[in-house]
Amino acid sequence: MIVDLRSDTVTKPTPEMLDAMFSAKVGDDVYEEDESVNALERKAADMFGMDDALFCPSGTMTNQIAIKCHTAPMDEVICDESAHIYRYETGGIAFNSGASVKLLYGDRGRLTADMIEKVINPDDVCMPHSKLIVLENTCNRGGGSYYDLDEIESIYHLARLKNCNLHLDGARLFNALVETGDSMEQYGHFFDTISICLSKGLGAPVGSVLLGDIKTIRQARRFRKVFGGGMRQAGFLAAAGSYALDHHIERLKTDHLHARILGETLEALPYVDKLLPVDTNIVIIKLQDEINADVYVERMRDNGILCSRFGDQLVRFVTHLDVNPEMIEHTISVCKKLH
Ligand SMILES: *Cc1c(COP(=O)(O)O)cnc(C)c1O
Repeated sequence: MIVDLRSDTVTKPTPEMLDAMFSAKVGDDVYEEDESVNALERKAADMFGMDDALFCPSGTMTNQIAIKCHTAPMDEVICDESAHIYRYETGGIAFNSGASVKLLYGDRGRLTADMIEKVINPDDVCMPHSKLIVLENTCNRGGGSYYDLDEIESIYHLARLKNCNLHLDGARLFNALVETGDSMEQYGHFFDTISICLSKGLGAPVGSVLLGDIKTIRQARRFRKVFGGGMRQAGFLAAAGSYALDHHIERLKTDHLHARILGETLEALPYVDKLLPVDTNIVIIKLQDEINADVYVERMRDNGILCSRFGDQLVRFVTHLDVNPEMIEHTISVCKKLH
């Protein structure tokens, strides 16, 4: 048995999702004539109570388009040092938008209004214009940590006061929502733009959606084209996304349960120095000094368990749609066997 816990991006479409894809009505989406893409964009916008939406090939593209929409060259983007937009988007903020970045050191990826307020620049010709605040929820490098809505509300008020835009990298937002019970409309109210991924825990093969007001999404559509993301009969992919939004949100709780069970076992093992709190579907362990993450990941792979190195002593496991209880049992027995 191979158990792939490297990421929640590794899922394959379920038979029901494939049925929805094969029966999709399609058209040319650059002409805005693909019914299935239009339906997905409408559905996602309505779920969040936002005006409009744009289907894109990846979450990197929805984030980068949002940053481009909200900034001009010489502006500054404020985010956590562990943010995906900063660490894992190939320097796109500089390349695509010509903006600088102010890094903050939050609690497992989470920022507070107080922290942000201190780094917003005054109107000074020597300083970049603090123009955009980006939050990530859940926080990937924070081990799937999620925000308290009260903090987001405080950040929203600060952003309004300081004339900053507020973008959410919500690649795993639904993982947060099934835990907190907060509503999508509340998020739609607080953020100027939101990026959601369909290809993470939701289990669609491809795609992310950017949500925002009419004017921003119209501009985003132009940026998507210039970035090379204008797709033609993309409805086959959008149909998978719509299916995922209808059927794969509530079940994220199962992934969280699997992650907690795995985390509890790992924490008790002698070679594990520390377990980050397991809040959603991500489990991060710090190994004891004498065992290195590369060696551990390789030994796990030899036993059919795939996980990721996340630092010299750090290893990450991510649960998802294609992981069942037997696989968790098997993973636990392998983890116990290694020493
Ligand atoms: C996966 C991910 C993205 C987008 O990644 P793509 O692979 O480009 O779709 C963005 N933000 C976070 C936090 C992610 O985990």
